[in-house]
Amino acid sequence: MFDRFDRKINYLRISVTDRCNLRCVYCMPEEGVTLLDHKEILTFDEIVDVAKSAVRKGVDKIRITGGEPLVRKGIVDLVKMIGGIEGIKDFSMTTNAILLSKYADDLAKVGLHRVNISLDTLDPEKFKQITRGGDIQKVFEGIEAAKRAGLNPIKINCVIQDNKHEPDAKEVAKFCEEKGLFIRYITEMDLEKGEFSVVDGGSGGDCGSCNRIRLTANGLIKPCLFSDISYSVRELGIDRAIDMAVGNKPQTGHENHTGKFYNIGG
Ligand code: SF4
Repeated sequence: MFDRFDRKINYLRISVTDRCNLRCVYCMPEEGVTLLDHKEILTFDEIVDVAKSAVRKGVDKIRITGGEPLVRKGIVDLVKMIGGIEGIKDFSMTTNAILLSKYADDLAKVGLHRVNISLDTLDPEKFKQITRGGDIQKVFEGIEAAKRAGLNPIKINCVIQDNKHEPDAKEVAKFCEEKGLFIRYITEMDLEKGEFSVVDGGSGGDCGSCNRIRLTANGLIKPCLFSDISYSVRELGIDRAIDMAVGNKPQTGHENHTGKFYNIGG
């Protein structure tokens, strides 16, 4: 499918939960978050129906996001259901890897191709500070488990303040080189202010060739991360919600005053 600006839309990012087992300072506010009510969260069957409809319309790349997708109960079953849809050429997940050592083998077995893992520093204390309490050792174990399971290529999402020459980013880059991982630099974004830039080492943030739409955990199809536009699959029906999202996809991102990274999935 193509949008009004002749961009080919073949990528669906699916947020399967707004919950997370970390509290990263650039994602979750200190005062905590208002989580979606369980009734609002799409069931596995609803998520799979959206994925099937999107694939019928031309999507061949699907990414599972959150919050943290591995905290969603039964996540391996959901990955298996989506992995079974014919026509998906690239099936990935973005995870903080805290639970990855537990699930990597099963995820690979049921059809997940690869993972992106968040890691902004190699310093355990800084990591604990950035994530408000996370244990970096679990991330290292998750990376090793993903490698053993064959969830390759493993990409590392490294959030930077300003540039990739920052000390922590340089250390993470060296670590990636040593471990055969691929680093992507994501400059810290601000939804409300509409501050974002192209992901260095990736394609996110490049509006001119943007190929993606998003599904939130509560069933909204979002044509753009930096926009308040969304279409409910429960209210409009899946096909119509996707068609309206692609049909009304903005040329470029602006500001988002209604969503948060943890409930849209970045
Ligand atoms: S801001 Fe919107 S249009 Fe631009 S790259 Fe992101 S999702 Fe695509």
